[in-house]
Amino acid sequence: MRAVASRKDRSDQSDLTDLSDSERWALYAPWLEHTEAVVRANAIICLIHQANFLLDRQIAALEAAFIEDGGYSEQLATERLRRRAKDPSDPTDPSDLPPKCPKCGGLMALRTAKSGQNPGSQFWGCTRYPACKGTIAV
Ligand SMILES: [Zn+2]
Repeated sequence: MRAVASRKDRSDQSDLTDLSDSERWALYAPWLEHTEAVVRANAIICLIHQANFLLDRQIAALEAAFIEDGGYSEQLATERLRRRAKDPSDPTDPSDLPPKCPKCGGLMALRTAKSGQNPGSQFWGCTRYPACKGTIAV
């Protein structure tokens, strides 16, 4: 089944992406609105075959992209490693939580300020407190 190129200049029919739905319908209307049911059924079967062909190509492209780039978790891990490699000393790198204490290099814990300038706010505090008073803003 081939569409008729009677409208405008439709010499190249390989790219129909700029058509509206009604223009696309008009391409197939002679068959889809045919008086004989056999012709209409054949046109629908042709369109189903075209849809299957395009779906097969899309699945193949997605498989190729998956093999090339990996899945969602792999892409997250890759991005995390890329950021760590860019600045391994950044203690606020969200991919490297909890951060290391900027004063002693020890472990830090998420704390809630009980007093000071912003009571109730959270910050990273050194687990060696009170010996070490290293903090990082959240
Ligand atoms: Zn510390």
